Amino acid sequence: MSVDKFDVIVVGGGPAGSAAAYTLAKAGVKVAVVERGERCGCKNMTGGRLYGHSLKRLIPDYEQRAPLERRITKERVSFVTRRGATSLEFSCRGLGGKQAASYSVVRAKFDDWLAREAEAQGAFYINGIRVDDLVVRNGKVCGIAAGEDSLEADVVILADGANSLLGQKLGLVKPLQPKEFAVGAKEVIRLGRGTIEERFSLSGGEGCAWMFVGEPTGGGMGGGFLYTNEDSVAVGIVATVSDVGYSGKSVAGLLDDFVSSPLIAPLIEGGELCEYSAHLVPEGGLKMMPQLYGHGVMLCGDAAAMVMNLGYVVRGMDLAIESGRLAAETYIELAARHDFRPEALRLYRKKLESSFVLREMRRHRGAPKAFASRGVFTRLPVLAEDVMKAMFTVDGVNTSGLPVKVLAAAKKYGFGQLARDMLRLLTSV
Ligand SMILES: Cc1cc2nc3c(=O)[nH]c(=O)nc-3n(C[C@H](O)[C@H](O)[C@H](O)COP(=O)(O)OP(=O)(O)OC[C@H]3O[C@@H](n4cnc5c(N)ncnc54)[C@H](O)[C@@H]3O)c2cc1C
Repeated sequence: MSVDKFDVIVVGGGPAGSAAAYTLAKAGVKVAVVERGERCGCKNMTGGRLYGHSLKRLIPDYEQRAPLERRITKERVSFVTRRGATSLEFSCRGLGGKQAASYSVVRAKFDDWLAREAEAQGAFYINGIRVDDLVVRNGKVCGIAAGEDSLEADVVILADGANSLLGQKLGLVKPLQPKEFAVGAKEVIRLGRGTIEERFSLSGGEGCAWMFVGEPTGGGMGGGFLYTNEDSVAVGIVATVSDVGYSGKSVAGLLDDFVSSPLIAPLIEGGELCEYSAHLVPEGGLKMMPQLYGHGVMLCGDAAAMVMNLGYVVRGMDLAIESGRLAAETYIELAARHDFRPEALRLYRKKLESSFVLREMRRHRGAPKAFASRGVFTRLPVLAEDVMKAMFTVDGVNTSGLPVKVLAAAKKYGFGQLARDMLRLLTSV
């Protein structure tokens, strides 16, 4: 293979980049992936759960091939205050059947596997090289530059993740806005398979996904999470950058407090810390989405802000994989005409519009604004606690019935405020 000119160069070997490379290589397109990490996945981070539907479209038998940790069969959401937690648990063997299965994943293993799958189809990976710039001639992106070297292609796919500096250089992506990004920090703690199954009441291969709202971020926008891997748990915090100061603690401080809280500490007791990582998450939703294509260039995954954080569900990897696949299909359709002008690449947006990616991002476009009111992080955990306390306190003093006690809790919250918070949430998430 000649290495000085490719049909397509993909920047970034995360899920978006490797999904694009896999699709292109499978169709016989000459594609190179340039990844700054020595191995794909070594720079990457996620909370931990992959919704498998878009990977299934790409690799139908992925469940037999991919390094998946545990199939999620138990969902928990906890509203946490300084005093306690109100938790909702949904546990079901049938959760996530067939198309809707979801799994905890470790990105160092998962991204490396996906890259090898793409390589097996014929994609050419160049690891350990950071792309510094794009080669642009007469307004068209013609390749990439790394140090003194450059590489040419008909089309460049930017899958370089959150805060795409290359997208910014092209003027397609806005510079980072603190209210549109969150910082995620997590610890991976090895406990052993048996201990995990015992502590989380799981049986062989089943996993738990647990989201925390309120106290873990000190009432600031964001939340805590815990995912069970095969023999470790991933525990972390995601906090909106512009709101980090709200609690008066740093993200690292929030994470320290979270892992040592009475809710988490007993679950990870005796475990061995084997990873600590932090990463940006684009959380501004549809409103922060950049121009998705230019002359000779397409953006996918986090580079295009394709992430949905709805509090109870966090999604980025399934959108990354689907958008990478659709960017590749766009190239394949346009290759015969050799027309990669923006007018032609508009086809990529059309494909995204008819896929779940833009349909769901549009449906949930109000979520960032609903969360910005902070009600869900400050008032809602207290309301949940007040209602639960009223339900379960038996003291022979307060003899009112449950409806009266619930109304008293709602009054404390403020009826108007409660109605506004609920409306905001229900119409956006
Ligand atoms: C704390 C946290 C929790 C999350 N939880 C979940 C979850 O549970 N489920 C879920 O679906 N999503 C989750 N997400 C989001 C998910 O991780 C991302 O949406 C997903 O990784 C995006 O994939 P991507 O391929 O677009 O970008 P990335 O995975 O970020 O990959 C980008 C790649 O580009 C490379 N790169 C960047 N710049 C260059 C350059 N100049 N030259 C060469 N290479 C470059 C990077 O090294 C990286 O490998 C979470 C994110 C965080 C941070």
